[in-house]
Amino acid sequence: MGVKVPAAPHLYAVPYLPIGGIFDDRELAAVREVLTSGATLSQGVWRPRFEEAFRRYTGTRHAFSVTSGTVALHLAIHLLDLRPGDEVIATPQTYQATIQPLLDYQVTVRFADVRPDDANIDPDRVAELINERTRAVLLVHYGGAVAGMTSIMDLARRHGLLVLEDAAHALGSTLDGRRAGSLADIGCFSFHSSKNITTLGEGGMVTFDRDDWAERLERLRSNEADAVLRPARHSFGLSEAPVAGALYPGHAYTHDYVRIRRAGTNATLGEPAAAFGLVQMDRLPDLLARRQAIAGRLGEVLGRFPEVRPQQVTPGSTHAYHLFTFFVDPAAIDRDALIRELGAAGVQTYLRYFPLHLLPEWRARGHGAGECPVAERLWFGEHMNLSCQPGLSDSQVEMLGDALDRSLRKLVR
Ligand SMILES: *Cc1c(COP(=O)(O)O)cnc(C)c1O
Repeated sequence: MGVKVPAAPHLYAVPYLPIGGIFDDRELAAVREVLTSGATLSQGVWRPRFEEAFRRYTGTRHAFSVTSGTVALHLAIHLLDLRPGDEVIATPQTYQATIQPLLDYQVTVRFADVRPDDANIDPDRVAELINERTRAVLLVHYGGAVAGMTSIMDLARRHGLLVLEDAAHALGSTLDGRRAGSLADIGCFSFHSSKNITTLGEGGMVTFDRDDWAERLERLRSNEADAVLRPARHSFGLSEAPVAGALYPGHAYTHDYVRIRRAGTNATLGEPAAAFGLVQMDRLPDLLARRQAIAGRLGEVLGRFPEVRPQQVTPGSTHAYHLFTFFVDPAAIDRDALIRELGAAGVQTYLRYFPLHLLPEWRARGHGAGECPVAERLWFGEHMNLSCQPGLSDSQVEMLGDALDRSLRKLVR
């Protein structure tokens, strides 16, 4: 039995994000079980179960759930051990959170331009930017299209660089049978309401193989566990014997830290969210199939227009279609007019993302126009995203395809 989600009144017949996540009685039953079990709502059995399912899916040795994709990126970047003066090569075409944590470090960001056929970081540009100060590469699988990982990991191994894949769009994408999140040194996921699965609206995951990172991340994400408390005296009258070496031997209830606490945070994903996420992992193949079917339908329409390039997929990879992306030939089609035309036909569009090197925080650090000509050319005249959210109904998908067809026919010069 499906649950009816009350549709918010919407200006568009085909909204970009139709509803906040896809779920039904299975997720509700899982959350109900957590809430009525009498068990703790934090640090219980559900989070390890969700992480285990995620590890099995991505094929990584470790998977640490956290409270958002942004927090996942903050913690993952912490593990990279960046030092003042280091350089980090990053894609300019991603959501700002991919590189936002770097604002806290005295590192130089070098933006490597993207490929015109998929908007992913261009391995050739990465190669040109590597020098003796380069320490890491931060990239995204744009929209769910896997980046050129074979070349990038080859470069990284030759130059001793760490690679972080922001896989927030790419849960379910594969390269040569391996899943996104396991293609680099460390992977980050988001379970925000709009992503391929959600954990009650917000959530994230960090994936990697290294055991030393696992030990550090366990402490980083739960600020209790980085220091072990020991009672100065055994409390509650069980024993009055002072513990040897206690700092305040006169006080029964004071505790000493065995280890000094380090910088960290509490990023624990709550139990109801983890239980919800576990069911979503079960549902993921269906959600991906729906996204791919919608993308297939839109791809059919685009195939009629030589003035349009669909986003290419890296050979050997599959696309999770978090975003449906294509590029217009600006000599033949006015991109901005296409957005207006689709809007008039009831189709909402939402372009992602404004090139990061042009954002004020990065311009203030010396970045600016001309630095990544391909990313700029795509963004300002060629780049289009359409919804391929699995919550679109069949009739909405038909409307979307028809509106796209009619708008392109009208606009092609
Ligand atoms: C959504 C997203 C994030 C941030 O995830 P939140 O869970 O919203 O904090 C990071 N990177 C990319 C590419 C994203 O799309």
